[in-house]
Amino acid sequence: MDVQSLRDNFEILSQTIYNKPLIYFDNAATSQKPNLVLDTIREFETKWNANVHRGVHFLSNYCTDAVEKSRKTIAHFIGANSEREVVFTSGTTDSVNIIADTFGRSFLKPGDEILVSQMEHHSNFVPWQQIAHRHGAKFVVFDILDNGEVDLDDYKRKLNSKTRMVAFAHVSNALGTVNPIEQMIALARKFDTAIFVDGAQAIQHIKVNVQELDVDFYAFSGHKMYGPTGVGILYGKEAWLEKLPPYRFGGEMIEKVANDITTFNELPFKFEAGTPNYTAQIGLGKAVEYIETVGISNMCSHETELLEYATRRLKEMDGITIYGTSSHKTSVLSFLVDGIHPYDIGIMLDKMGIAVRTGNHCAQPLFTRLGIDGTVRASFAFYNTTEEIDFFIESLQKIISMFR
Ligand code: PMP
Repeated sequence: MDVQSLRDNFEILSQTIYNKPLIYFDNAATSQKPNLVLDTIREFETKWNANVHRGVHFLSNYCTDAVEKSRKTIAHFIGANSEREVVFTSGTTDSVNIIADTFGRSFLKPGDEILVSQMEHHSNFVPWQQIAHRHGAKFVVFDILDNGEVDLDDYKRKLNSKTRMVAFAHVSNALGTVNPIEQMIALARKFDTAIFVDGAQAIQHIKVNVQELDVDFYAFSGHKMYGPTGVGILYGKEAWLEKLPPYRFGGEMIEKVANDITTFNELPFKFEAGTPNYTAQIGLGKAVEYIETVGISNMCSHETELLEYATRRLKEMDGITIYGTSSHKTSVLSFLVDGIHPYDIGIMLDKMGIAVRTGNHCAQPLFTRLGIDGTVRASFAFYNTTEEIDFFIESLQKIISMFR
């Protein structure tokens, strides 16, 4: 993989911030978009814009064809059985809320249990907690180990015949841990429970096949996989999506409407009420085409090299603690520097042109468990380089010597 020439696909990477070359290490928060995606959006908006699934006219049909082509590309990319299982949403958060709400209304009763991990992003934690409360179900959290892996013994202890839903991340956004989801799904299959996997941090790093995983629901966001913001995917097994009621009501999700009764559209449109962000939906299909052209395994092996290199360089420094030390990780490096607040590190790195994230990364229960308030998080994408990591380490050394 020729990283330098791939970087040319991302105009934003060649700009300067405070007169310093931009070093973008905040890819877990959102990734950058290649020209293929940006050009598609611009071309669509300037030449073809019309509402999707509505018209008889040329432009509307063009839009409908482009959206459905994109859905097909995404269905193929994740190994779905058919496009009926691929619902366009506004992102992972929306996908979780759709299932938490509709599953809760249809299947949860007092005494049932929902089981989630201690490392979840708030968007795969709070919806389940609130839905459990609403329906009188018990919200159960299984623990992690100190190295940031899930505690499989605790998971096994807490799975039981009352468990109706287990929800966990494929990859932790805060620590980078890749969870053994094949094993976790197999363990859950011994019980009468549905399984929801948050793939927001996995889909851009790991080849995912939802049928091989035998997962009931899988969610991800466009903006973390080189696609547009405001669009995401909810994969659901057809049998599950058929059983669940609609989430929102309105245009597009109906079949027939009369004064006294409404029947609903077929899958996946039953879950797609109203005018969606169809431009972003088309852009997401292009982002997937881009990933397939570069090759996800090429991306992943370069990212692993970056992670290993950065981890080694950080470990050579004094007073650094790395959080998330599993041997199964994607390219997320979360750390603290003794005696310096993560926010101060973030602010100083920014002045050197380096974008990282600081804080609790929307995972407060995880950080409470780890006994810290947050970390500095550098998250790498395939377009980052070891030279950027060298500059990052040098900058960090300067900051530390200034503070000390
Ligand atoms: N889950 C994980 C693991 C995430 O990293 C994120 C985004 N940081 C989300 C869910 C939420 O995604 P979005 O804000 O795109 O809905």
